[in-house]
Amino acid sequence: MDERTRIILKSGKDQSLRRLHPWIFSGAIKKIQGPAREGEVVDLYDNKNELLASGHYQDGSIAVRVLSFDPVEVDQQFWDEKISNAWQLREKLGLVSDPQTNVFRWVNAEGDGLPGLIIDYYAGTAAIQMHSIGMYRNLKAITESLIKTGGKRIHTIYNKSESTLPDKPGITERSGFLLGDSESGEVLENGFRFNVNWMQGQKTGFFIDQRDNRKLVESWSAGRRVLNMFGYTGGFSVYGLGGNASLVHSVDSSGKAIDLTRQHVEMNFPGDTRHEAFAVDAFGFIKDIKNKYDLIILDPPAFAKHQNVLNNALQGYKRLNQKAFEQIAPGGILFTFSCSQAVSRMNFRKSVFAAAANARRNVRILYHLSQPPDHPVSIFHPEGEYLKGLVLEVE
Ligand code: SAH
Repeated sequence: MDERTRIILKSGKDQSLRRLHPWIFSGAIKKIQGPAREGEVVDLYDNKNELLASGHYQDGSIAVRVLSFDPVEVDQQFWDEKISNAWQLREKLGLVSDPQTNVFRWVNAEGDGLPGLIIDYYAGTAAIQMHSIGMYRNLKAITESLIKTGGKRIHTIYNKSESTLPDKPGITERSGFLLGDSESGEVLENGFRFNVNWMQGQKTGFFIDQRDNRKLVESWSAGRRVLNMFGYTGGFSVYGLGGNASLVHSVDSSGKAIDLTRQHVEMNFPGDTRHEAFAVDAFGFIKDIKNKYDLIILDPPAFAKHQNVLNNALQGYKRLNQKAFEQIAPGGILFTFSCSQAVSRMNFRKSVFAAAANARRNVRILYHLSQPPDHPVSIFHPEGEYLKGLVLEVE
């Protein structure tokens, strides 16, 4: 094995590694023996010289992202195995062979043992989002593994990391095609059609993580007047129409998102007059809809991107949900979500409970929702469970 840089941890700061948590914060480091080159694999030792793990080094708050707790060479074979194991899990989940669905998350960072790497699969296209220099340095090897594992099932690979890679010298190609050159394509999700543009869209183009929750919305929509707030591509709206809602209204502040929503409704339900879409601010729209809707979906963007704005975020969730409780028709169903990693399930619940109490409505929990199994969470990395949702009945 090559001589690697050794990072010695302060006494007691090895505990998280012993619990197999995959991050080392910069404050845990006692000394670095050897060159500290960003993106390279380093070995982590406790202060008694016991080797505990190896991972990608980066100058930043998270200094090391662990790739292995056993001695390992991070070579082509390493990437092949990880990418192939991730694919096998999606096969096991039935997603690879599902005739109704050809969009899923192929690699979910820590959940697939690859911190810093997200890969979404869109009917033959792999859209890559890298969050670390270590992944950036290995893009060639990762691409090779994707082609090996994907075989005929993959014709395009697009790297879309312009907004996720840290701003560091030497990072030049943040985005670009690694295979093929198509910018968008049609996908199927539970039999519904969507047009995904991995070059222009938000994240990698589509919010795959709501697939199962959309299905649940479909099953609750019959005869109901549905409001899809923060709708983006209109995923929930299409399922609402599919579930025989009496009407579906979509709201998003982005004109592009509303255009996309209209396009998706037209693709799935041509000429359907039950749907209307509004390019307006959700907080303004929700003030004046008393008893107009029987099912409301609140899926706002992450209010807390960092721990230090947590309190503001919790207030934000409370205000938004309180408005929904005040306005929803009697007997209505509220689907409410938070995708902020910094907001714990318990904190989110508390904000929603406070909102219900302020609105003085009697509210019951019907379902606790999360992300689907192609967004697996390592049991040692609870932060990976970022999507939280509640389905509530409002008396
Ligand atoms: N529910 C979507 C994902 C939502 S992403 C899905 O299933 O795919 C969050 C969306 O909220 C983005 O499209 C963004 O344009 C929109 N947004 C952000 N702030 C907003 C606001 N104040 N009012 C309305 N929409 C907003």
